[in-house]
Amino acid sequence: MAVHAQVIIALARSKTVHRLLGVLLAFVVAAIATVVLPLIAIPLLASQGASESGAGRPTVVGEWGYPLAGDYFKSRGFGWDPEACSYCGSDHKGYDMGQECGVTVYAAGPGRVVRAGAWGGYGNAVQIDHGAGVTTLYAHMMWDSLLVQAGQNVAAGTPLGAEGTTGTSTGCHVHFEVRVDDVAVDAQPFMASRGLPLK
Ligand SMILES: [Zn+2]
Repeated sequence: MAVHAQVIIALARSKTVHRLLGVLLAFVVAAIATVVLPLIAIPLLASQGASESGAGRPTVVGEWGYPLAGDYFKSRGFGWDPEACSYCGSDHKGYDMGQECGVTVYAAGPGRVVRAGAWGGYGNAVQIDHGAGVTTLYAHMMWDSLLVQAGQNVAAGTPLGAEGTTGTSTGCHVHFEVRVDDVAVDAQPFMASRGLPLK
């Protein structure tokens, strides 16, 4: 016992041991800095990035804006488009645009929600009445993703739900349909005339 105590005292007084402990401490700090901090920081940065893109708002010009925030792909335009979709019907009534499953779909203009929910081939859809006979329709959104109800007033950029592939759809996209007096019209000139050209 006495020998052990002496050894411990000697070790505690030893400069070599102090130096070794210092090196060990520095190593532990360096290990924390290189291994643990990135583990904390990377998910933090990643979640910040996600919330930033999620909080991104679509371009709005005056009272109207795009149904999606940022860049998107076009899959089908209005009418007969055999190149984009040879197996589809010849009278495509909307403009198909997308980013990826789950991104937010926004109201394109001010008005009142007249439909929100399951709607046949449109899947989970929202329709907005903008007055003067103009309505817009956003189809194929994910089930249980709708953020508006019938009767609710919205403005351009109001989040409606999440891009999905419900109803007659083969992949995540938004079927954006503009109607005038309940007759579908080409969304491209409609939006272009509001300073919002589509692809
Ligand atoms: Zn479509």
